[in-house]
Amino acid sequence: MDDALDLLLHDARVVTCDGPDGAPLGVVERGAVGVRGGRVAWIGPAAEAPRAARRIDAGGRVLLPGLVDPHTHLVFAGSRVDELARRLGGEDYRAIAAAGGGIAATVRATRAASDEALFDAAAARALALRARGVTSVEIKSGYGLELAHELRSLAVARRLAREGIVRVTTSLLGAHAVPKERAGDRAGYLEEVATQMIPRAIEAGLADACDVYLDDGAFSRDEAARVLGAAKAAGLAVRAHVGQFADLGGAELAAELGARSADHLEQVSDAGLRAMAAAGVTAVLLPGAWRTLRQTPPDAARMRRLGVRVAVGTDCNPGTSPTVDLPLMAALAARDAGLELDECVLAITREAARAAGLAEAGRIRVGWPADLALFEEDDPRALAYALGGTMARAVVLGGAVVLGGLVEDEPPPRAPLW
Ligand SMILES: [Zn+2]
Repeated sequence: MDDALDLLLHDARVVTCDGPDGAPLGVVERGAVGVRGGRVAWIGPAAEAPRAARRIDAGGRVLLPGLVDPHTHLVFAGSRVDELARRLGGEDYRAIAAAGGGIAATVRATRAASDEALFDAAAARALALRARGVTSVEIKSGYGLELAHELRSLAVARRLAREGIVRVTTSLLGAHAVPKERAGDRAGYLEEVATQMIPRAIEAGLADACDVYLDDGAFSRDEAARVLGAAKAAGLAVRAHVGQFADLGGAELAAELGARSADHLEQVSDAGLRAMAAAGVTAVLLPGAWRTLRQTPPDAARMRRLGVRVAVGTDCNPGTSPTVDLPLMAALAARDAGLELDECVLAITREAARAAGLAEAGRIRVGWPADLALFEEDDPRALAYALGGTMARAVVLGGAVVLGGLVEDEPPPRAPLW
């Protein structure tokens, strides 16, 4: 029995997201995926599947790699519903931020929260993402804006992974804003990010990457270059929030630094996109933010034409994108930005994994961790078709069924919504 699989999910429409150019979804009809030791051990037609200790009949549903959310600010406390009301009343996001609202409001609430309260809130969001099929999440700090608080936020993110809720990759975002108490010492704060936060976060094993908010009302290109340059020299991967309000040359900087991703990109030049394409920097689209701020979305056709790879994230944050619905973000990227439906599926799986720097996520591949998401529908495009409400029927994380309660060899009745 040594060669038997631990688990076999069979009679699924397997979408590996690992197909060749031209058919990248990699569909296996009436397929099966076998798991051994927490990793994918076999992929192929169900009729040819090897023996398994446990067999789960997927009943014809679509089986995808666990979804990947490549951009979140998951660790925070406090609601900003009042701020949304003010913006809808005509106030400007940057004016509210300048008056002590916006990010500063979340910094106050996050610093005041206990470790447990901060973890519980983040865990609730991570579980809500997972219920929608997400098994890997990029999580930024950026609501501490002080050494100990930034490290605490990253530690909360790490704990989500340690407790087996989702896989996590972290980004230190000390340069999210200048904290209120350092308003007169902008340069000093940035130096502290570059020379203290970065090394301490690395030393504590808490940061996988470094991020900067490069925009009008946030940090300049030179300031971002200082922080990201220090991060890169210290061995961290880099990425940046770029072009949400104004094109400050952030796409070009991301390309120069070999960043994993440049995120937002409502405002970006062709030259910036070309530089990103040449350097292999993934564009991360964040529909929740452009919707909330009622902005003109980026144009996916233009990115496609210029050869830029595209991922989609929730940007889960309390100010501009309070959402945990990654499939809905894909659906909005299709409607607003013109991403094709197949591209949407890849944008929240393999392209998202690439943007987040997750080497073994976003595809179903033999030898990789068995992170899988089973959906009620039989068509993967349903993820970007439905405007919200898409929940996973089952989720497998590292070979363990963490959501679903599927019964062995007993196909449950299917009830697709669409
Ligand atoms: Zn963000």
